[in-house]
Amino acid sequence: MFSKLYNEAIIRLDMETVSPLFIKAAEDSSLDPTAADNTYLAFYKDGELVPVIPGTSIKGVLRSSAEELIKSQGLEPCNILDNKQNCAGILRREQQRLEKKYSAKEKYDKSCPICKLFGSNVMKSRIYFYDAFPEGEYRIGKRTSVAIDRITGASKGGALFDFEYVEYARFKSEIKLKNFFAWQLKLIYKLFERRNNRLITFGGLTSKGFGKIKIDNIDLELRYYNKSELPQGYVEKDYYISRKINGIENVKRALKGICINENTVKRCDLENEQAI
Ligand SMILES: [Zn+2]
Repeated sequence: MFSKLYNEAIIRLDMETVSPLFIKAAEDSSLDPTAADNTYLAFYKDGELVPVIPGTSIKGVLRSSAEELIKSQGLEPCNILDNKQNCAGILRREQQRLEKKYSAKEKYDKSCPICKLFGSNVMKSRIYFYDAFPEGEYRIGKRTSVAIDRITGASKGGALFDFEYVEYARFKSEIKLKNFFAWQLKLIYKLFERRNNRLITFGGLTSKGFGKIKIDNIDLELRYYNKSELPQGYVEKDYYISRKINGIENVKRALKGICINENTVKRCDLENEQAI
């Protein structure tokens, strides 16, 4: 199913911090006062150390919001944390029992709507999240906090520790869907539109109000590789036809007629998917 490229959707967006952002650099320093100072996650870019929101964090946050969203539409996602009950676990056991290997299309067909888009341990994801780097000025802050015992929730005898965080930044982010169905693109847009004026929560210390990020300046580029006709709004490129839609309102209009329901999530054949 993945050997052929039918279409792509490239979403470009800004993520602006509304409250301070703390994504830990270390694997787990768990607010331990004896550990080294906590620092925000940063990468080198053009020889300079800059804060970053890893693509994997963006994926994790959007995956769990997507689960909630499709539940509210009456659809059932698997529980990714439960290896016995999730799509990957069920598929593995079925393959063992039947002593056969499912094709990519069969695996897709048998997966829940969330695994269909975000992938699972037995199936490639159709959505890719790039690391988001800041554009323009950003500010780093430093605070001293009382260390909290993770088990008891009590402060550890007044022990203090310092931590650094991103005070303000506007991150540029890119998301790419490959061989997508229209409902999957709609799902991603609905997540941006959701709740509190397009606010999404990232990173640590969210109980202290950290990590509120506003999604903004959303642009969409659509590419279809298998179309012989040129639908309205599309231009012809060498190997594909393409349409660019700028701004959330225009994107919203373009996706208006697309539904996320039992029937649309069941579709497995990209050959007959209409261009958006
Ligand atoms: Zn699943």
